[in-house]
Amino acid sequence: MKSLPQNRKGGAVAPTEASSELSSVRSAANDSAANESAAGTIWISEIYASLQGEGLLTGTPSIFVRTSGCNLRCWFCDTPFASWQPSGRHLTVNDIVDACTAETPRHIVLTGGEPMIHRRLPDLCRQLKQEGYHLTIETAGTLWADLPCDLMSISPKLSGSTPDPQRTPFSPQWQRAHERRRERLEVVRQFMDTHAYQLKFVVDDESDAREVLSYVERLGAVDRSRVLLMPQGVEQSELEQRAEWLEPWCQSHGVQFCPRAHIAWFGNRRGT
Ligand code: SF4
Repeated sequence: MKSLPQNRKGGAVAPTEASSELSSVRSAANDSAANESAAGTIWISEIYASLQGEGLLTGTPSIFVRTSGCNLRCWFCDTPFASWQPSGRHLTVNDIVDACTAETPRHIVLTGGEPMIHRRLPDLCRQLKQEGYHLTIETAGTLWADLPCDLMSISPKLSGSTPDPQRTPFSPQWQRAHERRRERLEVVRQFMDTHAYQLKFVVDDESDAREVLSYVERLGAVDRSRVLLMPQGVEQSELEQRAEWLEPWCQSHGVQFCPRAHIAWFGNRRGT
């Protein structure tokens, strides 16, 4: 899958969290918020065309726009270049739209990192919708933003996602920040009430799977055909190992098993 050319010219976030918390989240997320704000840009890790490999739209040709910076630090993060060691380029909204219109897919996936930390995200979403794209946003569901999209793909982080000294990478500061921020039921509920949604959980072991059920109970009314459990892992062999117990477990508990098809198709490679 190729990288896309990136250039052209460049809403208000309505946080459920207090504004001060949102500001500190943006700063602490190493997201170069000051630069973004001054230049009216969004920090972009990569833009590429591929196939959606996870969730209800698996197999759909899509353009992936990956923002850089995240307010969380999951120990198993499979995009550390957008979280633990964020990097990328500051692009205007128009730069990003141009990069997308240069490609053929009509589906766009805004992913991260955590897209919601970027102040210009609502502007980008509105412009992409004006261009007629189907828009999926992948978020951990910890920060509310009022923006248009066709599928809100929410991936709440379970207690087992918190980095600890037994796992690398690890930092005590991020352990505390991650644990404080990772669960925002009211934000997830608000996204579910205002958008078509899927809830996608990364599951490492059976205690994670049980935690998903109690999480879903606490959310209230949830369409279980939209609750997807994905095995943790970036190698096909470990995904298959976890799928052996997770797939039947999902069937017997009325939720959906979600393979990570892009790993099977392309391996764990950037730009796929
Ligand atoms: S929320 Fe997503 S991008 Fe952020 S650290 Fe966790 S897995 Fe990585």
